[in-house]
Amino acid sequence: MSKKKMVVLGAGYAGLRTIKGLQKKNMDLDITLINKNSYHYEATQLHEVAAGTNPGEKISFEVKDVIDANKVNFIQDEVTKINHEANEVSLKSGKTVSYDYLVVALGFESESFGIKGVDEFGWPLVDIKTAEAAKEQLDKNLKNYQLSKDPKDLSVVVCGAGFTSIEYLGEITNRLPKLADKFNFPANEVKITCIEAMPKLLPMFSENLADYGVDVLKKRGVDFIVGTPIKEIKESSVVYEQEGELKEIEASTIVWTTGVRGSSVIGESGFEERRGRVMVESDLTVPGQPNVFMIGDVSAVMDEESGRPYPTTAQIAMAQADHVVDTMERKLAGQEPTAFKYNSLGTVASLGNNDAIGHTMNKDFKGYIASVMKKGIADKSLLQVGTPSVLLKKGRFDFYH
Ligand code: NAD
Repeated sequence: MSKKKMVVLGAGYAGLRTIKGLQKKNMDLDITLINKNSYHYEATQLHEVAAGTNPGEKISFEVKDVIDANKVNFIQDEVTKINHEANEVSLKSGKTVSYDYLVVALGFESESFGIKGVDEFGWPLVDIKTAEAAKEQLDKNLKNYQLSKDPKDLSVVVCGAGFTSIEYLGEITNRLPKLADKFNFPANEVKITCIEAMPKLLPMFSENLADYGVDVLKKRGVDFIVGTPIKEIKESSVVYEQEGELKEIEASTIVWTTGVRGSSVIGESGFEERRGRVMVESDLTVPGQPNVFMIGDVSAVMDEESGRPYPTTAQIAMAQADHVVDTMERKLAGQEPTAFKYNSLGTVASLGNNDAIGHTMNKDFKGYIASVMKKGIADKSLLQVGTPSVLLKKGRFDFYH
């Protein structure tokens, strides 16, 4: 009897971790991985590329360096549709790939929330290309100031104050003196504004940690405007609402980091979804489709404690991948799947190279120690989706800078 075909879509944290688990277990499966790029990138470090601290190569590595070509067939192509009735995946090249079991791990995209001008004038940070483009836009404007003397070339607006924004702000404010030297602009005239819709900053941390994080960034020159939803992005300005009034702030660099959604392939394939995320069964399969797993940023798993789906993170994506591998082992052995259980190990947000805030093991951490934890988490993830050699090449060992 021919082997059952297991197809994994996406080589992000969820997909690549699944592949690593499947190839290690030597299950009786014909395994295929499909990914748009030849490489995996550390989505948690995109802010470093956007701020120019690290090049794209530092936070990415080739998929072929991780997969065992004797066990996994790798197809570099873009998934355009999942035809779940035909158990088939359509690819941009025109090819189709059939499956018996499918793991959908297609990751996230920028979310515009339908706000005017976002797609045209906002610079999102969702993959290597967009992070590099945001860096180029920033560099171009800072450099241009020498000729233009236009204050908006020294004005940067960061939209939203979620994790990505805070980490980007931490990175960019750290780099500013170096950039001022490089492009010869007055660092003290740079205006960095972060506009957040909600009234409270960093609500995911304790008040003490949130205050620390906000103070650090304010001292480095960030101006926070809160309780002010953004209403429109124009070519060189951001329109927001403050106490019922529309206000506008000029900026040549507008970084759009107000949240993400799951891949649009999910909606286009007819899955029941909300913002590209499918509410999965307890074993992480799609309701009514026990051979289709949905994991990472395209899945929503209910946190019974909070009554809301868990936030999408690299940590939960990799835990889901491990559960899929375990479930496949059980399925092939004729056993019932178990329910996915998630214990978050905590959260850390970087504030630049040597500073961070974090909560883990029921304790708050801030400053240098939290920044070491942040680097440790990134290094651990590299081992979880990569190999020891990937860790040696791409890991963060600059603890003493
Ligand atoms: P997010 O959802 O965490 O933050 C988006 C922020 O933008 C929110 O504070 C929201 O209120 C604000 N916002 C939304 N619409 C707005 C508008 N119109 N005007 C002004 N503000 C607006 O999104 P993210 O930072 O992109 O992160 C995405 C996911 O990735 C999250 O689940 C996050 O937990 C995770 N993440 C985690 C880390 C980490 O653990 N260090 C780092 C990056 C991302």
